[in-house]
Parts: sequence; C-alpha cells; structure tokens
Amino acid sequence: MKSDIVEIERWKRPVPQGDDTLCSAHGKTSCSRDLVADVYLKDDGSPRIHWTVCRRWLDNEPKVAEHDTRNNSRS
Ligand SMILES: [Zn+2]
Repeated sequence: MKSDIVEIERWKRPVPQGDDTLCSAHGKTSCSRDLVADVYLKDDGSPRIHWTVCRRWLDNEPKVAEHDTRNNSRS
C-alpha cells in the first residue's frame, strides 16, 4: 500500500459485511470477516480515502502500528 494512514476510528463492536459495506483492504470476494474500523488514507492523488477494514488487516498492517505509535507519543 502506497498511501498513508491519516486517521483510524475503531468501532465499539464489529459489524458484518453487507451489500453496502465491505472490507476495503481485502475486497468482498476474498474477505468475509466482520468489519471493525473506519480508516482514512491519503495518497498523491487524493487527500482523504475512506476504507472500512476487518480486524485481520488492522492487526497485520505495519502502518497501523506506526500510526498508533505516532498518535500515542503525541498525546
Ligand atoms: Zn479484510
């Protein structure tokens, strides 16, 4: 992934994927896990890209850890 994480909003409870919601990271065909967060990304072409993601992505994406570290050290 070339884009950077701007913001992560973790939900209070997981939400199953539906017709209008899907795991943006893996796509509906390869991921059927419940969604757990909104993620906002930016890249060269777009300042704000909205993703909804499953916990597996949150737990395995290195940029999530980087983002959390940045945020924790700021507060
Ligand atoms: Zn997924």
